[in-house]
Amino acid sequence: MMTGEQYKASLRDGRRTYLDGERVTDPANHPRLKVAVERAARVYDSFYDPRPGAFNPVYIMPKSVEEYEERRALLRKGETDMTLGTTGVVLLALATSAPELGHLKPEYRERIYDYIEFVKANDLRCAEVVTDAKGHRKLRPNQQDDPDFYVHVVDRTSEGVYITGAKMHISGASLDHELVVLPTKAMRPGEEAYAIACAVPVNAPGVTIIDTTYAPYGDYDPRDYPVSGSRNCPEGFVVFDRVFVPYERVFLDGETSHAAVLAHSLGLWERAEGTLHAADDADRMVGLAALLAEANGTADQPHVKDRLAWLVVYATMCRAAAEAAMLHARKTEDGLLTPSPLYVSALKYYRSEMMAKVLDIVHDMGGSLIVNAPRWRDFDNPELHTALAKALGTEPLTAEERLQLFSYVRDTTADAYGGWSYVTGQLAGGGQHAQRLVAMRQYDLERAKDLARKVLKSAGRAEEGSAAGLV
Ligand SMILES: Cc1cc2nc3c(=O)[nH]c(=O)nc-3n(C[C@H](O)[C@H](O)[C@H](O)COP(=O)(O)OP(=O)(O)OC[C@H]3O[C@@H](n4cnc5c(N)ncnc54)[C@H](O)[C@@H]3O)c2cc1C
Repeated sequence: MMTGEQYKASLRDGRRTYLDGERVTDPANHPRLKVAVERAARVYDSFYDPRPGAFNPVYIMPKSVEEYEERRALLRKGETDMTLGTTGVVLLALATSAPELGHLKPEYRERIYDYIEFVKANDLRCAEVVTDAKGHRKLRPNQQDDPDFYVHVVDRTSEGVYITGAKMHISGASLDHELVVLPTKAMRPGEEAYAIACAVPVNAPGVTIIDTTYAPYGDYDPRDYPVSGSRNCPEGFVVFDRVFVPYERVFLDGETSHAAVLAHSLGLWERAEGTLHAADDADRMVGLAALLAEANGTADQPHVKDRLAWLVVYATMCRAAAEAAMLHARKTEDGLLTPSPLYVSALKYYRSEMMAKVLDIVHDMGGSLIVNAPRWRDFDNPELHTALAKALGTEPLTAEERLQLFSYVRDTTADAYGGWSYVTGQLAGGGQHAQRLVAMRQYDLERAKDLARKVLKSAGRAEEGSAAGLV
């Protein structure tokens, strides 16, 4: 396994990454990337085990709910960050797709399992490289005025393929070791070049990554950005310019019929991991709202209690859907556990639909101090401290406690991380329309129609009402 220091050194491998207009030669020492690198390094250290054969639990591909829970429990023993999360999601997606791709060509399945072993043995981090630049959304990949809007095969030899194109929004790409490239959606006959799935090292010749990050700029006080300042991670715009991929790292090559298999598996695992996060996040929102009400002395007001109850119902529905997703989990032909896509997508959709109201309630309970609370350096300034402490320090919280609470709520709901997580919650793993499509595909509409037919048949006949499920 790698230590944190070894991980940091592994990023100095000649990769072509950019941020704020400049080439980044050493992410570990870049002012706006070093926090994310440091965090990823801490994750490595938290799991480090020098014994031969030891590996990070993220590489476990669970075959039962028990194994899934055990994997989660093992993961909770160490620290976590975006690069660890995307590694787990993308490997689970590959493993979920392996049996179906194996029916196309047995070597696809073998290559996937070999690749998972390779990544595990070398303790590598992988990015989910799916979302293409896409150009004009209503045009197919091969109808765009530039063929490179979707990553595609531009050349091949007896050894492998060359790919060109651009993928966007790739979380943690420039801090990972591997780019797992998957088609963004179903492809049609004639679009064979776009039906490509493969793995590419981040430092492969022809790969360029242009980063964005919500990490605060400049010499900020970490207390003003308790989450943005310590848990940020870059998203990468990844450009492929005739990047060579040897066949042993190609998992799909031209079979348009199966392009969607990988995208669906990735979306499922991305959302599934998100659902568990959504349930915890919802509980956190309830807690923050309750603390804000206490801080303002309004906790016993009927309208405040009402709104808190709304949040409690919301959080409970999130938890229920997350648990139902595992309760209704299925297995692939190779025995890998996969959560129920219906519950996963329904929760993702529900959470996004509700989020604006959740934030409304939290902000309304807190008041304007959420955005206008003084910054910590002013609070610490001896010339200002007494006046600020006097204005902020009211029972049951000290001025420091109140400032900490309001700074946290601003950062996570109304400032850097807040904006990022609002949009991410809606779009990462697919937007709202995609969730509706999955839900419709997975829901048993015929059963629902049968139920409705039964009700219609028995309408007016009281004795048959209960048989049709009516009370
Ligand atoms: C912070 C963050 C992190 C992310 N991380 C990753 C990552 O690690 N890896 C990755 O691959 N992706 C990642 N994504 C990308 C995410 O999966 C996409 O943003 C999402 O799938 C939506 O794609 P899009 O942004 O291109 O929007 P679009 O798909 O273009 O959607 C925009 C709007 O256009 C509509 N639309 C799109 N196509 C059509 C059409 N043909 N006809 C009619 N309407 C249409 C949609 O319904 C929607 O309303 C991330 C996104 C965010 C915000």
